[in-house]
Amino acid sequence: MNNIPSPDSTSVRVSSIQRFSIHDGPGIRTTVFLQGCPLRCPWCANPETQDPLSGKMMSVSQILSVVERDADYYRHSGGGVTFSGGEPLMQPDALEALLKASKASGFHTAVETSGETAGENLLRAEPFTDIFLFDIKHCDAKIFRKVCSGSLDTILRNLEALSKSGKVIARIPCIPAFNMDADTVRGIFALALSLGIKEAHLLPYHTLAKDKYARLGRTWGWEQSGISKEDVEPFACLGREAGLRIRIGG
Ligand code: SF4
Repeated sequence: MNNIPSPDSTSVRVSSIQRFSIHDGPGIRTTVFLQGCPLRCPWCANPETQDPLSGKMMSVSQILSVVERDADYYRHSGGGVTFSGGEPLMQPDALEALLKASKASGFHTAVETSGETAGENLLRAEPFTDIFLFDIKHCDAKIFRKVCSGSLDTILRNLEALSKSGKVIARIPCIPAFNMDADTVRGIFALALSLGIKEAHLLPYHTLAKDKYARLGRTWGWEQSGISKEDVEPFACLGREAGLRIRIGG
């Protein structure tokens, strides 16, 4: 959970920047993938973002100059900029600077987070963030620790504190043989509702990143077949019955 040291507050370690993204928040967006993640989810679709020392260094103004290219699309679609990863809160100084600069340019801002960070990092980002896409992967700390190598206690503490802002959307990766049973999913929905969260996105597990692992010389870590939107629909029904706005996909 250590933050990546930043040579100065405007240097950012970036994995990639994706324009015209439609899965990382409302409208058409530019998604900036920051480098580094404290977790090791075996189904991770962005394994190249995990190493905190890879990627390339960019300044905040260089990143903003890419983001600004599609300002017209954001205006017409209700989109904006999303900071993702990896875990963007591993670079809290850089993230805060990016969010401030984005807001100064009038852009809608979203942060995708695993929640595995020091609470103060989230609270620093909050005033400049319009929505947080906050992963809730499981409610059992032992299972979460064993599979994802993280601390669910830290994540839930952060989720509870951040939920008071009213800006949190729950992102639930639907992973066979991990959390795709009715009791586990009901538990996640109940947790979200108890914190005043009104919307959840269900993300069907896929195996599209397998080739990336081969290129990185690593082994794909979750031997399950990919699933479809239809496979997730019964869980979507449970969420709607519980009172959440549910979307399948990001
Ligand atoms: S939290 Fe996200 S980026 Fe980090 S290992 Fe898990 S899936 Fe990958």
